[in-house]
Amino acid sequence: MSLSGLKPITEIIAPGEPIIIAGPCSAETEEQLLQTAAGLAANGIKILRAGIWKPRTKPGGFEGVGVPGLAWLAKAKEMYGMQTACEVATRQHVIDAISSGVDILWIGARTSANPFAMQEIADTLAELNAQDTPVLVKNPVNPDLELWVGALERLYNAGVRRLGAIHRGFSAYGKHLYRNMPQWHIPIELRRRFPQLPIICDPSHIGGKRELVSPLSQQALDMGFDGLIIESHCDPDCALSDKAQQVTPEVLNYILSQLVLRRPQGTTEGLDSLRRQIDELDSELVELLSKRMRVCREIGQFKKEHRMPVLQMNRHDEIMQTRINAAKEMDMDGDFMKTVLQAIHEESVRQQIEVLNAR
Ligand code: PEP
Ligand code: MN
Repeated sequence: MSLSGLKPITEIIAPGEPIIIAGPCSAETEEQLLQTAAGLAANGIKILRAGIWKPRTKPGGFEGVGVPGLAWLAKAKEMYGMQTACEVATRQHVIDAISSGVDILWIGARTSANPFAMQEIADTLAELNAQDTPVLVKNPVNPDLELWVGALERLYNAGVRRLGAIHRGFSAYGKHLYRNMPQWHIPIELRRRFPQLPIICDPSHIGGKRELVSPLSQQALDMGFDGLIIESHCDPDCALSDKAQQVTPEVLNYILSQLVLRRPQGTTEGLDSLRRQIDELDSELVELLSKRMRVCREIGQFKKEHRMPVLQMNRHDEIMQTRINAAKEMDMDGDFMKTVLQAIHEESVRQQIEVLNAR
């Protein structure tokens, strides 16, 4: 499936401009939502997000204010001329959000992992004749691109054309720098498969900490993401959900003002010449590797004639250590070099064993 004929997510952002969506993790009170919206609107934010129904890992936590929060979103929309967005996870959420005039829906990471829920949401949009509503699909919590694509396809098949994806990172067991691992290669593969599908980055849920919002946002823009969805609360320390990752509208404004936008340039001359350099370097790399493998086969032959074992651990350790040190001296990452060397070593051993077994 190619997801052809997609329409823009929103017409209120000029084409080519990053789509910025901001607002609290959760709508908590009318006052909190309106105060946050006022701060965001004053800083030029045009799309307000707020969770109305909150999917919590364990029962007993704050599970969102539910339907009354929709009226607060509608009020913010009227007062500040913003578009509004909220998460939907069930048929009833879709009915309530659409009938309250929510402009943009998003699908949370726990819901996009559930094909039954996705089908129900898609069917409800069709039933309500609301297929023109923009729907943004967060990646499923687990790193499964097919599941993400499947969720998008269910909406597409129901006639939704204002589709977008949100990259919010993938959960991992244990403690990590990030709350959810970025695994950038997954959204990049999504982009490769569906070049016309807008992808928005959610640095708040990837990072899980305020100080990571800015670097992750810049990284996303550098990688050509189409926008950002960032959690912002008028009083983050008192937020009822995700307080460690929310920033005030003022801080958000500062973060956004520092971001460097990399627009596609009129001329790609400089880029073309750099790419030519990469092409040349890669062909040198391939040639060198093939030379190295040839020498390995000769070593294999020698070891065979002298009845020596293929693997000699001292030699292996020495190779790893000297090369990693050299790489570090040349400003490369030691772990990266280790991975490369291990791959080369594995293939070298395979080559030698092939020689050993040859009659
Ligand atoms: C959210 O956006 O507040 C949220 C619950 O996100 P996710 O589905 O990415 O966990
Ligand atoms: Mn949140």
